[in-house]
Amino acid sequence: MITGQQLINGHWVQGEAGQYQAVNPATAAFIEPVMSYASKNQVHQAVAAAAKAAPVFAATTLKQRAEFLELCADEIMALGDVLPERVALETGYPKARGEGERARTVNQLRLFASSIRSGEYLNIRIDTALPDRQPLPRPDLRYTNQPIGPVVVFGASNFPLAFSVAGGDTAAALAAGCPVIVKGHNSHPGTCELVAQALHKAVQKAGLPAGVFSLIMGSGREVGSELVVAPEVKAVGFTGSLAGGMALFQLANNRPEPIPVFAEMGSVNPVVLLPEALEQNAEGIAAGFVGSLTLGVGQFCVNPGVAMAIQSPALDKFCAAASAALAKVPAGVMLNEGIAAAYQKGTVHLAEQSGVELVGSGEAVGDKAGFCTQAKLFKVTAEAFLANPHLQEEVFGHVSVLVSCADQAQLLAVVRTLKGQLTGTLQATAAELATQAELISLLRQKVGRLVVNNFPTGVEVCDAMMHGGPFPAATDARFTSVGTASIARFVRPICFQNYPAELLPPELQNANPWALPRLVNGVKTSAAVDA
Ligand code: NAP
Repeated sequence: MITGQQLINGHWVQGEAGQYQAVNPATAAFIEPVMSYASKNQVHQAVAAAAKAAPVFAATTLKQRAEFLELCADEIMALGDVLPERVALETGYPKARGEGERARTVNQLRLFASSIRSGEYLNIRIDTALPDRQPLPRPDLRYTNQPIGPVVVFGASNFPLAFSVAGGDTAAALAAGCPVIVKGHNSHPGTCELVAQALHKAVQKAGLPAGVFSLIMGSGREVGSELVVAPEVKAVGFTGSLAGGMALFQLANNRPEPIPVFAEMGSVNPVVLLPEALEQNAEGIAAGFVGSLTLGVGQFCVNPGVAMAIQSPALDKFCAAASAALAKVPAGVMLNEGIAAAYQKGTVHLAEQSGVELVGSGEAVGDKAGFCTQAKLFKVTAEAFLANPHLQEEVFGHVSVLVSCADQAQLLAVVRTLKGQLTGTLQATAAELATQAELISLLRQKVGRLVVNNFPTGVEVCDAMMHGGPFPAATDARFTSVGTASIARFVRPICFQNYPAELLPPELQNANPWALPRLVNGVKTSAAVDA
């Protein structure tokens, strides 16, 4: 049952800062029940509980934490159909999308569980003492990673499960041994509460301190700001807008003790269509492109918001095929009124820019209920694109701008002008890939993931994923927010020098009781250290 309460230090409590109701974006009708917002005082209760739980949680074994993550996954599944049904009600996504996202979320938790069992993320390094070394002896030095401390996670509007209460940021922080306080997204508060109920049960079953996980709801930026400036908080995970991410980043940097904000703020994910590939398969590429552009009403941070190509008859063919494919795309329900309004404003703004023309549109909204919008593809010359930085600003949703270049030099100039991106995509033949060294080198400087002859939507959760990129795609290009490598955001290294062998953390002990891979005197091994 959804109660509209907050989860603070293991207790479900009414928020003290007012009430609201979620809105069904497909109908614009209010959804029961009435929900509550937390007060600043309640934020501090949650943060204090997290700080109290931090040393206890940090001291759990890898096995205990892995089992806890698996319990979280089991408890989410145990919620049953009520969860994808609530997702559908609060997001306008079909129930199947909620089911798919639930599978992704629980698989993600289980992947983190198996990943931490392997101990790879600890990056253990041992340099044993060299007492006889000349001119100076070397002390015994042992390096491992430890949890950074309480982490605040901002749930994203567009992934109500996989980037929300028990999503990637939360899974990574819990895997690292950090207590988590989630600031749930107001677009899907019932979904947030259901998932928090599952995590609460998992905390209880695992016998962990209550402060390991709390859920706080709030609006008007007050709760989010208060969480980020709370002195007990040591890191922040965020997925959302550039304005929101940067506001939180600046707040965190202005604290007396600055902390990292790992914000993934989206991008326009350029798709470069090379001439031979277009010549060989303009229609197939157009179909793939429109599919990627309109998937989920384009509400993905990896949505292809800009494409570019050299003018040619094959490009005209691409435009005709994309326009025809787009014409069959139904008007889509967006996540909330604000996102739909921003899309309307953004597409009108694009259409008004000098040199921009419409290539094609999806089906009109007509008298459809709710927060519905129409898909669009615009075209602009490279000159106009290069002269107007607004044309590479993200308009969240199913719209893209195709930049038409006169020649290869202009194509390179367009790529050179791009800001940091989550992804860059090349549609190219094998021969083009082998000869476009400068273009590929430029793209590598701009993106976190380089996609060849696929499309950028669809972010695999795995060991090898990089979901992040140079600013403004993210605040720190060195880290991913998807996949097991994302644990690195929530740990910090510590080195023990000349520490009594029997008091070392298990992963650093000579006997290697957890049989973890370690770099011992420069050699990767799972063997015990000869004492
Ligand atoms: P958002 O406006 O950035 O908000 C996300 C979360 O951050 C909310 O919980 C919000 O809290 C909080 N927040 C934002 N600005 C804040 C501030 N200055 N101080 C404290 N807390 C703050 O994102 P959204 O609501 O998901 O969607 C709005 C736009 O974000 C979309 O139109 C789209 O452009 C972009 N977006 C990007 C991605 C992506 O993949 N990177 C995903 C979804 C949306 P409050 O509710 O209190 O404001």
